[in-house]
Amino acid sequence: MTKFDISLVVPLYNEEEVIASTHERLMRMIDSQELSFELIYVNDGSRDRTAAIVREFCDQDTRVKMLSFSRNFGHQIAITAGMDHSSGEAVVIIDADLQDPPEIIPQMIDLWKQGYQVVYGRRVQRKGETRFKKWSARVFYRLLHSLTDVDIPVDVGDFRLIDACVKDALLNIPEHNRYVRGLISWLGYKQTFVDYVREPRFAGTSKYPFAKMLRLAADGIASFSYKPLKLGISLGIILSIFSLLLAFAVFISRLFDLVWMEPGYASLMCVILFFFGIVLIMLGIIGEYIARIFEEVKGRPLYIICDKQGNFAENKRVRAIE
Ligand code: UDP
Ligand code: MG
Repeated sequence: MTKFDISLVVPLYNEEEVIASTHERLMRMIDSQELSFELIYVNDGSRDRTAAIVREFCDQDTRVKMLSFSRNFGHQIAITAGMDHSSGEAVVIIDADLQDPPEIIPQMIDLWKQGYQVVYGRRVQRKGETRFKKWSARVFYRLLHSLTDVDIPVDVGDFRLIDACVKDALLNIPEHNRYVRGLISWLGYKQTFVDYVREPRFAGTSKYPFAKMLRLAADGIASFSYKPLKLGISLGIILSIFSLLLAFAVFISRLFDLVWMEPGYASLMCVILFFFGIVLIMLGIIGEYIARIFEEVKGRPLYIICDKQGNFAENKRVRAIE
């Protein structure tokens, strides 16, 4: 197995419209560098012609490889599988839709050579994304930042370079509900960033519909913070104190025959619904955590690979089926 200097990991889910242009731009970047590269495409259960197109690239060039999942496992699992199978001294993760410009990679490599083990891309501007997406991303990153003790940088996606030692550490984290950028922050090491402008998607549509985005956000928060669970205690204490005060007021008003509250069905209804709402929300939050515990306890493999094109490094991950 030849060792490469840099492994590029590109997750693909129904990207037939962009893959040819992406491949060309990546190869142009690779050829302009003196280091040796391997290019690992991870086909995350695409149902279009993506796999067929990439297979041709693999036939043309031995540096190009492809892993195919047996179904769609999701972006975070796809990049994990790519890293697991890489053999480079450093690994770069990049999206397939050219939103992250490949031309930034040499800058990342320079910083890596200076001794940084994690170099992430920070989006200073996002072009061609809906106002809702920009706004929701902004809110989410800040919420996550305020909820967690781990210092997860804001406005940072998965476009990044990591050293092989970080990759090896990541390999030993068996978590299913993976929020990879959070895990990398949690690992620590010497980290830095390069700023870049996130371009609009080159072609095709986003493979992150609202439901998937919500799930990623929930994974990010649930894997790195217990604060939502503790919300119940604070709310319970505040509301109990409030109800005690109210009870005291009612008692006094009875004692001195003061009429200050209309006897009313509507107000009672509001109070009951409000408290039931809070109880159900808390139950839901607890459910989210229990579901994740259940997922981990089952110990199913993280991903299932049904096809490989090219020679890969040995995969040391426990719980993956090939
Ligand atoms: N992707 C994937 N599996 C999925 C969804 C997305 O491998 O289930 C890949 C997709 O092909 C792309 C990257 O993840 O390379 C980012 O997806 P996308 O650009 O659609 O997300 P957005 O930029 O809209 O958040
Ligand atoms: Mg994109």
